Amino acid sequence: MLDPAKLQATATELLQQLIRFNTVNPPGDEAVAQHFIKGELEEAGFEVELLALEPERPNLVATLPASTPAAASDGPTVAMLGHVDTVLADPAEWQADPWGGELRDDGCIWGRGAQDMKGQVAAEIAAAVELAHAGWRPASGTLKLIVTSDEEAGGNLGARWLCEQHPRKVRADVVINEGGGQMFVFEGRRYFRVGCAEKGFSRFNIVTHGKAGHASLPRMGENALLKMAPLLEKLATRQPAHDLTAEPRAILKALFDVDATDADVPDLLARIEQTDPRLAVLLEPTFGVTLTPTMARASAKVNVIPAQASVRVDCRVPPGHGVDLAERRAREVLGDGDYTLDFAESAVGNGSAHNSPLMDAIVEWVAGVDPEATAIPSVLPGFTDSRWFRDAFPDCVAYGFFPQMTMDMYESDPLIHGTDERIPVDDLALAARFFSFAIPKLLG
Ligand SMILES: [Zn+2]
Repeated sequence: MLDPAKLQATATELLQQLIRFNTVNPPGDEAVAQHFIKGELEEAGFEVELLALEPERPNLVATLPASTPAAASDGPTVAMLGHVDTVLADPAEWQADPWGGELRDDGCIWGRGAQDMKGQVAAEIAAAVELAHAGWRPASGTLKLIVTSDEEAGGNLGARWLCEQHPRKVRADVVINEGGGQMFVFEGRRYFRVGCAEKGFSRFNIVTHGKAGHASLPRMGENALLKMAPLLEKLATRQPAHDLTAEPRAILKALFDVDATDADVPDLLARIEQTDPRLAVLLEPTFGVTLTPTMARASAKVNVIPAQASVRVDCRVPPGHGVDLAERRAREVLGDGDYTLDFAESAVGNGSAHNSPLMDAIVEWVAGVDPEATAIPSVLPGFTDSRWFRDAFPDCVAYGFFPQMTMDMYESDPLIHGTDERIPVDDLALAARFFSFAIPKLLG
């Protein structure tokens, strides 16, 4: 329906512009970028509002309703969601200026946010404005574009705040967000991940106890830090039992055509490992609880034997599960011993139904790109703004889908929050074509 060359040019220019706004969070400073996006969308006929808890950190909500109020309220609200803030970048480590937005000879646009997620925001806006400029309006329902600030620091000024304070303005039946779309090849077949769910977390401290003493007389005290060593060793070498949820089951079904149970996972993982160890590294954490020690504390002075030592563990839990499962799996790995577990922060991960008009649109589009390829529901090891929308609007279907295939998942994943972040223009254009296909599919 749209001219692919025009769509690609629009997406490219938008992404270059967006990268050139430095929106490293903290401090974020998203206002200039948001005003730029507002201008682009208003010119295409969207109604645009900026909503902010802090004036320099606004969120953008743009609306394109069906031509009559009756038709608008008759159909679904479809929201393309994105965040415009990024993590930091150290120019000394990069081959290009992280805020240059340069299109290089390798066919890639370089810069912080190219993958996470100014690339997707640019592709979404390009599809929306090109559709609107071509005169398209929803036959029924409403199209929204929601661009948030503050995602990289947890969304307290962004998606979370919007969903809590302005639920009527951001309510949606369908949300398309980051957290999926990367392609991988397994045994000769192409797969596109659809981010249908996200893990939660249940962070805790392992605490060991001893008796203080002068460090010059090691046997006078009881060193709590040394008691930590065997526990760390167990975290390094032992694997908790698996807890498959719907998405990993769907992936194993797609890869091996089996209805896998938790007990089947070790064998299936070994097969994945044998075929492509890179895939095992990315998939294994989605099959159950993970326990990653990241911070440690013991004595405050070098010459005092510590009476207490603690290690903080970033524990990630499959969607729908909470502290109970985290603790059960942690104790299973650590075994009996002289330590205590102290659970501090936790959040339960959530997900959306796999059967939906959005999934149908994705499946149809993927088949058009490559009849041999498969779209598979997947669970994200981390989390995105989708969790706030699923929590606020329990019936909404929120998926992560930003299709890419010139660069596969193994190339693009390490670029997220990494150095030399970039995206092939061909992938940016592919994603823009997907959005321009899916939107009229969902809204008529
Ligand atoms: Zn992101």
